Amino acid sequence: MSELVTARLRSTTTELGLPHTPTSLEHLIQRADASKMGYFDFLDLALSEELAIRDDRRFHTGLRLSRLPHHKTLDAYDFSFQPELDPRKVRDLATLSFVETKTNVALLGPPGVGKTHIAVGLAVAACRAGFTIYFTSLDDMVRQLKEADAIGRLPSEMRLYQRPDVLVVDEVGYLPLDRDEGNLVFQLISKRYERGSVILTSNKTFGEWGQVFGDEVLATAILDRLLHHCEVVSINGNSYRLKNKLFAIGGGGDAATA
Ligand code: ADP
Ligand code: MG
Repeated sequence: MSELVTARLRSTTTELGLPHTPTSLEHLIQRADASKMGYFDFLDLALSEELAIRDDRRFHTGLRLSRLPHHKTLDAYDFSFQPELDPRKVRDLATLSFVETKTNVALLGPPGVGKTHIAVGLAVAACRAGFTIYFTSLDDMVRQLKEADAIGRLPSEMRLYQRPDVLVVDEVGYLPLDRDEGNLVFQLISKRYERGSVILTSNKTFGEWGQVFGDEVLATAILDRLLHHCEVVSINGNSYRLKNKLFAIGGGGDAATA
């Protein structure tokens, strides 16, 4: 390629918003030459390459901004370890139609059964598909909202949790909240209602949420909005964290204290 053409390509592609094309072009031309590619195929290849690089960058930036604690996928989840959990239920969720329909997902069960793993796996899949994600624990979110409220910045902090297509709220119920804190959660859930999905994990049954939010009426109001459009996945099995230890102690259920 002449230097003049290279320079023009660089400026044209930049102006068109295709920044990766000039760098991959030499390599693509070699591939096209080697396989005697036609003009249409070559154009298709060059544009697909640009799109693939752009998608990959967006995915990695999205993952960084999501604050996910790790990036475990659903493929890494061993369904045979939780025989009562129907893999189809999770695989259906992985099609992400719940994100399109702004449906919530509640993952319930005792510690170690993989609630966070599945929540993260769904979030990673959604991020890959181009949706925006934000991950927080309930306690962190409440702390941030309270701090913002104290300095008069509650609306902008609320927007942080309102904006993403998928908000993951981990560990609902580990620590009980007081009434004011429960109220902040209610405000947020009301704002996201039918506007964006929430994936939550909890070790408490919905019946115990009154204790979690310090008030039965408030808990009912939160549940009313959360559960109107919600897929509930209950995982009732052994902790994966105790996988090998359970055999060592004869599979005793008391091992949950570890
Ligand atoms: P929970 O949120 O229910 O307390 P986690 O999702 O944090 O549980 O799971 C605890 C650990 O065990 C994580 O490292 C997770 O990846 C792993 N894990 C849990 N269940 C499974 C499973 N069925 N297959 C593979 N890894 C699992
Ligand atoms: Mg967890």
